[in-house]
Amino acid sequence: MTATAKVFGYEFREGCEEMKAGKYRVTDPCYFLGHDDDFWNNFCSFMFGEDRTIGSDSYTIEIAGYKVMAWGTAYGDGCYPTLKDGVEIGSSGVDAGMLSLIPIELYDLFKDHLGENDDSSAPIVELAYNFTPHIEEGDCSYGGYQTLTGDSAEGCGDCGCHDDYLNWNSLCNSCQQERDNEEEERLRQEEADNEEEE
Ligand SMILES: [Zn+2]
Repeated sequence: MTATAKVFGYEFREGCEEMKAGKYRVTDPCYFLGHDDDFWNNFCSFMFGEDRTIGSDSYTIEIAGYKVMAWGTAYGDGCYPTLKDGVEIGSSGVDAGMLSLIPIELYDLFKDHLGENDDSSAPIVELAYNFTPHIEEGDCSYGGYQTLTGDSAEGCGDCGCHDDYLNWNSLCNSCQQERDNEEEERLRQEEADNEEEE
């Protein structure tokens, strides 16, 4: 462990800011810098500090001139999907109740510092343009990507897809249609069987 955030300098700010185009890993920030006590304690007191009167669900952390965007998940810890144009590309485990977009260059800078917690299975996204993330109820949208932690994170109960609209049954339209067809077929069969018995 050689590199620490302190060496490079860091600053915490509330809210989402414009981020630079490039590659980012979608991961819980605790996997990236949770074992840097100085950084992590300061980050936690920034988020939960008594001097803060207004809660904020998103944070910008500037480290060594790079911006990291962090936000709180809707329901705490778990495993949350990232979608590109509506198709799931991977998922991120969450241990500290939040997720973040971490510039891939920061990983290089902190290479020596990342221990066994390195979340290397977490998805990497590539943004072609500068972007400003949008957070709503734990879901984060950014340049064609979405990382979902709210009610739509689980997707359709049958096929797991993430169609925008899941019905009352938590099913996508085509799975609901399939179930309706099966039910119809079952009733038809039942009727036919009854007729045979008579
Ligand atoms: Zn479905």
